[in-house]
Amino acid sequence: MRYSGLIAKERVDADAAKVVKRLVRSGHLAYLVGGGVRDLLLGQKPKDFDIATSARPHEVRALFRNCRVIGRRFRLAHVLFSGGKIIEVATFRRDPRDDDPAIDHVEDGDTMRLVPQRRHVDEQQDLLIRHDNAFGEPHEDALRRDFTINGLFYDLERDEVIDYVGGVLDVRAHTVRTIGDPAIRFREDPIRILRAVKFCARLDLGIDPEMYDAMIDQRQTVSRASPPRTFEEILRLLRSGASHRAFYLLWDTGLLSVMLPELAAYLDDLGDQSDEVWRRLMAVDERVAAGDLPNDAILLAALLQSPAEEYMEGEKDPALAFDSFVEDLAQRFTVPRRIRERMRILVSVQKRLRDGKVGNLARREFFADSALLHGLDCHARGLTVPEWAYDVSRYVEPPPAKKIKREKPAPT
Ligand code: ATP
Ligand code: MG
Repeated sequence: MRYSGLIAKERVDADAAKVVKRLVRSGHLAYLVGGGVRDLLLGQKPKDFDIATSARPHEVRALFRNCRVIGRRFRLAHVLFSGGKIIEVATFRRDPRDDDPAIDHVEDGDTMRLVPQRRHVDEQQDLLIRHDNAFGEPHEDALRRDFTINGLFYDLERDEVIDYVGGVLDVRAHTVRTIGDPAIRFREDPIRILRAVKFCARLDLGIDPEMYDAMIDQRQTVSRASPPRTFEEILRLLRSGASHRAFYLLWDTGLLSVMLPELAAYLDDLGDQSDEVWRRLMAVDERVAAGDLPNDAILLAALLQSPAEEYMEGEKDPALAFDSFVEDLAQRFTVPRRIRERMRILVSVQKRLRDGKVGNLARREFFADSALLHGLDCHARGLTVPEWAYDVSRYVEPPPAKKIKREKPAPT
């Protein structure tokens, strides 16, 4: 299906439009694709614009002076612009297991969806994708993508959205839906489950019911995903500005027990009393909305502070207790030591800040970070946030306590 007039052309990044134009002038197909098209259709500001083209990487390379080809396995072209802007140009690809006859047409109202067809998949079969994609046709490129809302092309020259997967319908319905059978698509790449959570939370979209069931059924597969990718998705959820919604959905679907059992167990035990954790994440989202994105160590500390403090309570050496609390998690996700140590410092000083004993912490290099976490913590506990929490330049050291001079007893 082709739809015209859905996108205001002037909202497309001028540099991305230039790249498309040059590719098309040279006889290639070139479309905007993925998150940029989705966000424009949803009326949101796109983070970046990716381009899909029939040109091979070396042909793209030859057309642009400011271009480098990256990727050892699958080669992509990056066209570089001033200010560090990168437009990613990828050749249309297909899943090498999909042959043309194995594509199904599904009628959905007035729309026709293409879906990858996999007839004989049994429950036990290992579907994890370990191979590289092959070059393909536009419709094949749409089919290998994760969600229908991410599988749309925008043909700038003709001002048409090209929809092979029913994505326009789902944008209109504000629904995240996998392209094809969700259970299969999640088994092929379990990170897609976390991406579904991310898009639902960040873009405030609904979940296709069949996909919701598959998220629950397939939750254990997330433990098979590569740990650094999972860790990166956790960070993305924390940075999304919708971390509260995202982690609530993870908890609700049981995914959190697979990914972060230390937090899930804490929440499960508290039940309705778990407000503190959620309020802390809401405060994180407020910082992000204010354009003050906390760094990764602060984000992770905010996520884990409640269960960590419970674990550390009454321990003689809180720092050591924190280490033992995060040990499993840090190993599981290969959390860099730098971040892990930073989290320990930030969490360890929270009690002191709560007790108002700032003292010489104000001169330490980590003061700003720990103050920010303290601000989030105050939100979480319903306490007044000190004005220096998000801007330590406003911290005023209290004057040193006056020494009371003992008066000499008057001679009698
Ligand atoms: P964001 O706004 O977060 O960047 P995005 O949709 O652009 O969202 P990217 O991670 O930048 O997400 O990926 C670009 C596109 O690549 C997606 O829109 C989707 O079409 C495809 N894609 C990314 N990851 C996967 C995956 N795991 N499986 C299938 N397709 C994927
Ligand atoms: Mg993107």
